[in-house]
Amino acid sequence: MGRKFFVGGNWKMNGDKAMIDGIVAFLNQSGNTDNVDVVVAPPAPYLVYVKEQLKSSVEVAAQNCYKVPKGAFTGEISPAMVKDLGLKWVILGHSERRHVFGESDCLIADKTVHAIESGLDVVFCIGEKLEEREAGHTKNVNFRQLQAIVDRKVNWDKIVIAYEPVWAIGTGKTASPEQAQEVHAWIREFLKEKVSADVAEKVRIIYGGSVTAENCVELGKKPDIDGFLVGGASLKPDFVKIINARN
Ligand code: PEP
Repeated sequence: MGRKFFVGGNWKMNGDKAMIDGIVAFLNQSGNTDNVDVVVAPPAPYLVYVKEQLKSSVEVAAQNCYKVPKGAFTGEISPAMVKDLGLKWVILGHSERRHVFGESDCLIADKTVHAIESGLDVVFCIGEKLEEREAGHTKNVNFRQLQAIVDRKVNWDKIVIAYEPVWAIGTGKTASPEQAQEVHAWIREFLKEKVSADVAEKVRIIYGGSVTAENCVELGKKPDIDGFLVGGASLKPDFVKIINARN
C-alpha cells in the first residue's frame, strides 16, 4: 500500500518554556524515525521556539489558522504567517474547534482550501459525538464533515484525515482497534466513491482519541489506520513509543 505512517502530537493550550524544553529533549532523542512522519503542534506563541530547537526530522504544525491571508481578524493567525515561519502543517477541524468554538463544516472547508492554496498541508479532523454514535449516525456525521471538502475539490495530496471520535478525545475511552478500523474503511470507501480510487488508496487516515503507549500497537496493526493524532500522551516521553508503534 505504501502509505507512510504519520504521528501527530497536538499539545492544545498546554505548556510553557520549561515544559516545552522537556518535550523537545525527548523528541530530539527519539532516534531514527525515517519511516514515520512526526509532526507536533505547540500553541501558536511557541511555534518558533519549538521549531528552532527541534531536530529537522520532526515537523511543527499550527493548531489552527483562519481563512484569509491578513486583515482585521483580532486573535487569528493566517496560513501565510505559518508558512512565513518555515512551517508546513496546520491542524483544522479539531473537535474542540468544532464544538467549543462553534466552527461549521463550511468555515472549516474555507480554512482548508485557503491553507492548501497558501502552501500548507492540513491534518483535517472529523469525528462523531457520543450521542451521534449511539443514535447510529456515525457514518452520516463523518461523511457530512468530509463532504464539505469533497465539494471544494481540494488537492488530496496535501491532506491527512484524522478520524477522532469526540467521545474518545481526552476521555481515556479509546475506540477499539475494530471500531476505529470500521470507520477508517468507511472513509476510504467514501473517498473511492466521491473522489477517486487513487485518492482513497493514497490518503492517510489517522486515528485520534486517547491513544497511549499501551494501545497504539494494536491500533497500528489495522490495515486502514495509518497513524495517530495524539493529545495528552504527546506531552509525555511515552509519545516516542507511539511514534514507534509500527517499528
Ligand atoms: C486530540 O486532541 O486530538 C486528542 C486525540 O486528544 P487525546 O489523545 O488526549 O484524546
